[in-house]
Amino acid sequence: MIKPKVLIASRISKEAEAYIGTYCDYERWEGPRQIPQEVLFEKLQDKEGAILTGIPVNEELLSHAPKLRVASNVSVGYNNFDIKAMKARGIIGTNTPGVLENTVADLVMGLMLATARRISELDHYVKAGRWKREDNKNLFGLDVYGTTLGIIGMGRIGEAIAKRAKFGFDMEVRYYNRTRKYEAEKHLGVVYSDFETLLKTSDFVVLIVPLTEDTYHMIGTKEFALMKESAFFINASRGQTVDEEALIRALENKELLGAGLDVFETEPVQPDNPLLRLPNVITVPHIGSSTEKTRRCMAMTAAKNLVAALQGDITDSCVPELRRKGSR
Ligand code: NAP
Repeated sequence: MIKPKVLIASRISKEAEAYIGTYCDYERWEGPRQIPQEVLFEKLQDKEGAILTGIPVNEELLSHAPKLRVASNVSVGYNNFDIKAMKARGIIGTNTPGVLENTVADLVMGLMLATARRISELDHYVKAGRWKREDNKNLFGLDVYGTTLGIIGMGRIGEAIAKRAKFGFDMEVRYYNRTRKYEAEKHLGVVYSDFETLLKTSDFVVLIVPLTEDTYHMIGTKEFALMKESAFFINASRGQTVDEEALIRALENKELLGAGLDVFETEPVQPDNPLLRLPNVITVPHIGSSTEKTRRCMAMTAAKNLVAALQGDITDSCVPELRRKGSR
């Protein structure tokens, strides 16, 4: 039987690569840097499937990939998929939900703790040899436990954060979604809130929505102005869901107490980004799902999704907008 030709353009684990090799005739981009566009387009000419995490799958790419049937992401976010262009050509797009929620939720809790308890700042302080016996109040932070958390985007990751916050930190958890999650309200004791009330009443505001046309710059000047001056803002969704200039202004003007950021409008973040100079901002380099175990699971899920979709099995991992009628 002739195996379908596949391109692995993003890094995946050896096991995932071996899995793909069992069912497909594959070519892998070896470079440490992202595959250059001209190389990508040339290699896609004869490919039916590809692992394309973070690479825009748009009209331009598709015009160089006449045989492409499946684009597989090693991520849960799929804002790199131009749904309209893919739909027009009947391309299936897959992602990796169900294997990274807990890892991302752990990081979000870490960002909440790090901002409120000034962990990064005080780590530098100790290591710089500045800790003196008389230090006391200047080392104080704020409590996380028992405060109010507002989650914008009560999806899979939102629920994993809510569980930690509610049962581990005794927080009151409010959430905003376009649709109410009655099951989550029952099981996790979370409370639905409208957008404005959530912003006005939360001690921590966590943003964990997908990046879409609706969520682009969902949090900007107006939203920061509504938040408490004592609030911390955490973004682990995508950088473009936040108007970064508005965030910088809000932090500089003390409209917010601090921010914990895993994602940025431009990644890698530019060294001259003012966010990097603000002491009340904790930054990490988009590491939400970055643990060995989770990344391996994600890579294997993406490999299985790719093979399954090439074989005509459109599983739940096919992104909802590209699922065909009759598929699960
Ligand atoms: P999910 O299960 O699809 O949940 C997304 C939630 O966002 C849903 O509850 C959805 O509810 C809500 N939402 C969507 N559009 C909205 C809008 N316009 N206003 C308010 N709520 C909206 O996705 P997930 O697995 O939790 O992941 C969420 C996002 O996190 C991903 O898309 C990705 O961008 C990001 N992420 C980041 C990392 C990282 O490394 N930092 C890792 C994984 C994922 P409604 O549709 O009812 O509104």
